[in-house]
Amino acid sequence: MSRTALATIHLGALRRNLARVRELGKGAKVMAVVKADGYGHGLERVARACAQADALGVAALGDGLRLRSAGNRQRIVVLSGPDEPGDLAEFRRLQLDAVIHHESQLAWLAAERHAAGRRPLRAWLKIDTGMHRLGFDPARVADVHAKLRALPGVDADIVLMTHFAASDEFDNGLTAAQIARFDEVTAELAGARSLANSAGLLGWPTALAARGGAQSWVRVGGLLYGLSVVDGKTGADLGFEPAMTLSTRLISVKQVKRSERIGYAATWECPEDMPIGVAAIGYGDGYPRSAQPGTPVLVNAARAAIVGRVSMDLITIDLRNAPNAQVGDRVTLWGRDLPVETIAAHAGTISYDLTCGMTRRVLFVEDDD
Ligand SMILES: *Cc1c(COP(=O)(O)O)cnc(C)c1O
Repeated sequence: MSRTALATIHLGALRRNLARVRELGKGAKVMAVVKADGYGHGLERVARACAQADALGVAALGDGLRLRSAGNRQRIVVLSGPDEPGDLAEFRRLQLDAVIHHESQLAWLAAERHAAGRRPLRAWLKIDTGMHRLGFDPARVADVHAKLRALPGVDADIVLMTHFAASDEFDNGLTAAQIARFDEVTAELAGARSLANSAGLLGWPTALAARGGAQSWVRVGGLLYGLSVVDGKTGADLGFEPAMTLSTRLISVKQVKRSERIGYAATWECPEDMPIGVAAIGYGDGYPRSAQPGTPVLVNAARAAIVGRVSMDLITIDLRNAPNAQVGDRVTLWGRDLPVETIAAHAGTISYDLTCGMTRRVLFVEDDD
């Protein structure tokens, strides 16, 4: 019996989710976003399952290095580009695409020596259309685009991109304004376009349409992992399958008397004599400490709920709904039959935060389902 918390990654679900993204994308190229260790599912593993993607998107150069070291030969886009001038040589050596979002990066490229004779760097020009995180001001875009195209070490085929701040709210006018702004700024510029993230793909068809005859790209993270990007809906509601099931075992079952209190700070009082189970998982594994009493778990197939505070290594469970539960029984924290979105709602956070939060103590395994 393994008492270790287990994250099972469903490779089949990843593949089917990717296929569904492609279908919804209606001919758009698909960048599978695998930043933050594949949203916590494992970078190399997710990349392998996404062999059919047109590119992988990572947050930083180190992730690109990790993928190349693992033998990955897919197109890889580093979503924040180089962090310092010395990174450029690594981008070239590893053949990584660079998102160029800031004047300093443009200056490093312009100052590069011996870039001309080498394989040109593929650049994505990021435009800040209203999120005000990364990207060039619209007023600078035409000039930056021309400068990039004139650089001998940069591929003239530049992808124009922007990122949405609120595309998960399908009636939020900010997204419509961002799309309009993007179209206005890029109307005269050559190159493929890339606007939509997961929520953009679902809710903003105008963000998908290829413009100027150029092939467009969608950049999808959440949906790939079956994670919902829409408040109040689960990934399954949107037609996607969870790619992670988190489970552990019961290591104690006992009767506790009415009015006795459970766990740290004695916050939860038993309303009657009742069975309390203890499962081997806690915030030391990445299960959220903020999960409130009443947060559901599955004990075997029965739905039960946690009571008391989440500890570092353990959680306590009201077993009145699973009266036959025994030490050694499987406890599922989230996954196929228990949407991670439900747990996130009980913990005051979002699903992405939970899957990204698994610690090194969790044992990762994969299946082909
Ligand atoms: C994370 C990220 C995405 C993917 O977002 P999802 O909502 O997970 O689909 C796309 N583009 C950029 C620039 C990102 O940082």
